[in-house]
Amino acid sequence: MSQQGYVAAPPYSQAQPGMGGYQGGFGPGTTQPLYGHYGGPPQAFNAPPTGMMKSTAAGLPPPPVSSHYSQNVHNGDHPQRYAAPPAASAAYGQPPQSSYNSMIPQAPPTAQQVTNQMSAMNLGNYAPRPMHPPTSTVPQQHFQAPPPPAMGQPQMPPSPQSPQMPPQMSPPQSPPASMPMAGPPMPGSPIAGQPMAGPPMAGPPMAGQQMAGPPMAGQQMAGPPMAGMGRPFPGPPPPGAGGFQQPAPGAAGPTGYPQQPGQFGGQHMAGPQPGMPGAFPSGPGAMAGPPQKKLDPDSIPSITQVIEDDKVKQGGQVFTTNIRGQVPPLVTTDFTVQDQGNASPRFIRCTTYSLPCTADLAKQCQVPLAAIIKPFANLPKNETSLYVVNHGETGPIRCNRCKAYMCPFMQFIDGGRRYQCGFCNCVNEVPVFYFQHLDHMGRRVDFYERPELSLGSYECLATLDYCKNNKAPNPPAYIFMIDVSYNNIKSGLVKLICDELKTLLEKLPREEGAESSAIKVGFVTYNKVLHFYNVKSALAQPQMMVVSDTAEMFVPLLDGFLVNYQDSKAVIYNLLDQIPDMFADTNESETVFAPVIQAGVEALKAAECSGKLFIFQSSMPTAEAPGKLKNRDDKKLINTDKEKTLFQPQKGVYEQLVKDCVASGCCVDLFLFPSQYVDLATMANVPCHTGGSVYKYNNFQVETDGEHFLRDLRKDIQKNIGFDAIMRVRTSTGFRATEFFGGIYMNNTTDIEMAAVDCDKAVTVEFKHDDALSEETGAMMQCALLYTTISGQRRLRIHNLSLNCSSQLLDLYKSCETDSLINFFAKSAYRAILNQPIKNVREILINQTAHMLACYRKNCASPSAASQLILPDAMKVFPVYMNSLMKTAPLVGNTELSTDDRAHQRLSVTAMGVEDTQLLLYPRLIPLHNMDVGSEALPAPVRCSEERLTDAGMFLLENGHSLFLWLGQACSPDLIQSIFNLPSLAHLQGNMAALPELDNPLSKKVQSIISGLLEKRPNSMKLQIVRQRDKPEILFRQFLVEDKGLYAGASYMDFLCYVHREIRQLLT
Ligand SMILES: [Zn+2]
Repeated sequence: MSQQGYVAAPPYSQAQPGMGGYQGGFGPGTTQPLYGHYGGPPQAFNAPPTGMMKSTAAGLPPPPVSSHYSQNVHNGDHPQRYAAPPAASAAYGQPPQSSYNSMIPQAPPTAQQVTNQMSAMNLGNYAPRPMHPPTSTVPQQHFQAPPPPAMGQPQMPPSPQSPQMPPQMSPPQSPPASMPMAGPPMPGSPIAGQPMAGPPMAGPPMAGQQMAGPPMAGQQMAGPPMAGMGRPFPGPPPPGAGGFQQPAPGAAGPTGYPQQPGQFGGQHMAGPQPGMPGAFPSGPGAMAGPPQKKLDPDSIPSITQVIEDDKVKQGGQVFTTNIRGQVPPLVTTDFTVQDQGNASPRFIRCTTYSLPCTADLAKQCQVPLAAIIKPFANLPKNETSLYVVNHGETGPIRCNRCKAYMCPFMQFIDGGRRYQCGFCNCVNEVPVFYFQHLDHMGRRVDFYERPELSLGSYECLATLDYCKNNKAPNPPAYIFMIDVSYNNIKSGLVKLICDELKTLLEKLPREEGAESSAIKVGFVTYNKVLHFYNVKSALAQPQMMVVSDTAEMFVPLLDGFLVNYQDSKAVIYNLLDQIPDMFADTNESETVFAPVIQAGVEALKAAECSGKLFIFQSSMPTAEAPGKLKNRDDKKLINTDKEKTLFQPQKGVYEQLVKDCVASGCCVDLFLFPSQYVDLATMANVPCHTGGSVYKYNNFQVETDGEHFLRDLRKDIQKNIGFDAIMRVRTSTGFRATEFFGGIYMNNTTDIEMAAVDCDKAVTVEFKHDDALSEETGAMMQCALLYTTISGQRRLRIHNLSLNCSSQLLDLYKSCETDSLINFFAKSAYRAILNQPIKNVREILINQTAHMLACYRKNCASPSAASQLILPDAMKVFPVYMNSLMKTAPLVGNTELSTDDRAHQRLSVTAMGVEDTQLLLYPRLIPLHNMDVGSEALPAPVRCSEERLTDAGMFLLENGHSLFLWLGQACSPDLIQSIFNLPSLAHLQGNMAALPELDNPLSKKVQSIISGLLEKRPNSMKLQIVRQRDKPEILFRQFLVEDKGLYAGASYMDFLCYVHREIRQLLT
């Protein structure tokens, strides 16, 4: 997998050869300097092209109005007649269709879409209002009044650099909220804050407020966001680094943004000291002023509100995928998907659903163009699982030239005898057996009978050509490899695992309708040596074979090692009963690790199957063997240029193991039970490149952590999963996939190899232009995943998605999805820290945030005062996520944080989908003390800030990995009694692993909320109970992501101010 400089935006300057994006020659720019994508030639903000964008909502044809094929309007009602039709003569051709798009009805976007996406968030209190006439009845006059002359603020001219909004552009129906974020002190002046969503959004009183100035170290900022860094955010990179630098007085402007003092510079910055126009950004001296009063936190954009609004608007509704470039509901909203030609957002989400037409535009806005693909995503019960198509011996039908598979983007022409590929435009002959006539709309008459013609996602049986060695695969195998060294025996872990397996193996995944699972199972125990077990059904007793030569690992038995569980149940039971006793007296504390993986790979190879290893290990492998590790944890490296080495895996043996595993379809799941540093960065390297998971239970104790671990194990074993997978993302001409993030391995620049891929694993793919995109045809992508099913069938899973293209950046910003953006940023930043100092990565994150928002402001928002913070509606909470991301352990250099924990989080995020990163970066904080116990609904979460906690309150906080029950000091005894069956909070013991099940409505409701959450999330979470102001509360507080970070990092408010300052600098 390529590891290169942080590339959150493309190095567009590079020539990008290659036909249609499928040839070689566009490998990652490994020679790029750091900051590569900011190091290009200076880019000024260009005025956007004038004129109105075209109607963009074209998409798939709507269902036919007549005919008996129209069943598809009912979810799940597709006819399932997929038998290949008889070969037909091609003599009955209808008039050829000239191009795919000629038949696509152009439907204008709905007014609702436009207005929703148009509404922008303005923060500011005195600036002129947008130029376009507001339709709202909200009075505007206060905003249009010039600031009081007494303030020493020159009157704000309409932004000369900002273009006028095209007059055709309809104004938002609901006015943008305007919040007094950046205004100068205006004692006594009337404020007309426009309510955005209820009273909290109204502007707070401004008297005496001095928030306009950017936060500076030790002043407006509650403290320096980075401990020990003396500045709120890292300073400019060293001269010559080619970076996107913060302008400094007297210095040359940042690359690409030559400073233009005298236009906006400073005058409208409304610094804390009236009468100091131009003071900003001349350094801390200028910022000295009276202490800031706190702004009303309700006045800044809220994630919980955005989530709630989307639920109200789209919750419970059906999302049909028949419109190109349609932005789906948020991941936090429950909705039903009906596939009508584009893949469900459960499978693919994008950072924006309207790509900029040109590379220049993309470069200008720096909004990453990426898709987050979760090819195996679980579907809710009320959605139809994917249809499986069989094209017989010829195999899947695909374009001769680009190899894209048959899909709704293929245009049948010439009376149905030929089809034009939507990806490369090649005209292909329709195979004789596949011929079908076209109807009067130019659509095949079997359109609704063939999933590949009408659906965004489907599966197709693969022929032997798609199988290793042209041989049909065997069903996969699961191998359980248990570390039986002293610690694991003593802690009771080995017994716990063995006991659990007896019931868990009954629940191995199986094909729908199958009586039992086809997955084979095998067992290994190990410490310094490996023990293989023969559990052949014919045996009365299992047999053990020991391999002590770990340098040349081999599997001592073939027959009887991997067996069908149902057949060998008795022997396996016997074995699982015996294992804990066999090693009960062990003194062996050393373990091997790489040879264990090697053994698994060899076993799968010998059995000619793919599969998964479940490795349960508690220590760093220190025994003399390949892959032996030593403690290389060094806190002195933190905040130095060498900090990245803490995240880099040890090379050599483990690199080779990744290759071996991927080549044999061997996925590795690692369950770690460490009591100290284990070099997780290296140990997790194989799991993280083979589609596996790494679970970590620090200082494991059966009593308090046992259930938590078993929940993970159960979920993991039962997951919907595919093996020996290879994925390819094809795109229509003009753009292509260039960067890939996930639990994947890449041997070349296009094939995404995954030893396995389960329902929770996502691959994030970044796209770049190599030509102009057309507004008319849009942009299409097809993700094709070739894999082996749990029963050993080779299949293709195809997901198709069409996006809009526009020469107006406004369209891009309107169609952005913040949750997807932050997924991309998290993954790219976490990869970047492998190669760059964390400080640089953080800087790039801030700069790119400011740049994206400044570009919107410059090119898309109506002219207004520089002091207003104007955020695109679809990205208005982006700064919250970004700030939270920068406070995550991998991006915070602090010696208090465990190196292994940081490495663990870095690697886990790499394979996360959008839901998971959203929740991780903005935990749910749910008040439980005042909920309606009779209601089925989950209480509405509140913002993740200490200010939302109440002394008499009880709150649940979860982020998909941690789960806290927080109890205020003044919790009523009744509440404590109901939940804990204790007379008061003081009686509560520290490490309670679960709440007692009590027979009262509150207890039952809390239990059901917790179990509901545990059920829903991919991972188990250990419930931690914390009392207000107890020492462990500090663990809880780090998840209050709107507050100042525990170890480092600004509060949301301070961050927003800081970003605002950066934006203003960019705009000058
Ligand atoms: Zn093609």
